[in-house]
Amino acid sequence: MHRCPQCGCFEYGGAPACARCGDLLDTLVEDGYQAFLAEQALPDDPDLAEMIVSEIKPYEWRVVDAAFDRLTCADCGSRRGRGPAGCPPCDLDEGFRYSAREPDRPGVPPLNEHAVRVGAAVLRNAHRHGERALLSWRLGFPLVLAGGMFTTAQAQNLRARINKGAGYDELAPWVATRLR
Ligand SMILES: [Zn+2]
Ligand SMILES: [Zn+2]
Repeated sequence: MHRCPQCGCFEYGGAPACARCGDLLDTLVEDGYQAFLAEQALPDDPDLAEMIVSEIKPYEWRVVDAAFDRLTCADCGSRRGRGPAGCPPCDLDEGFRYSAREPDRPGVPPLNEHAVRVGAAVLRNAHRHGERALLSWRLGFPLVLAGGMFTTAQAQNLRARINKGAGYDELAPWVATRLR
């Protein structure tokens, strides 16, 4: 894990306030889409994005999330699934996106990729989530992306400390020691 030169948090963990961390998250998703297009020799057009989000299940989560990013919610005008919480079509899309595939990257513990995808969704859509969920992913996402995982006890410990009001600066050094 590396510190972001712009915000001082571990990279990705400064989102949504830090533009650089936000860009890193967007790139993580968009790179997955570009790799998919290259592999399949497909053009980047909205019809393809529509097709992907109408099927979801056969596709990897980065491909699905990037496809949603290419489409506009008819109700709120945001990118699909990314409008305010309570926008009915966005709420539906947000649920559906989780049926995408989450194949673990080589050399990481099982279900690591699920944590990466949930963390990316929360950090990229901070306005749809509570303050505590956001803080726990600002702390946890750089760890899981680096291939680490919290044990159940560690996750409970972290949640308890967040609930007691501990902030990012207090908790980040502790999280960094979890990465072996
Ligand atoms: Zn940053
Ligand atoms: Zn919407």
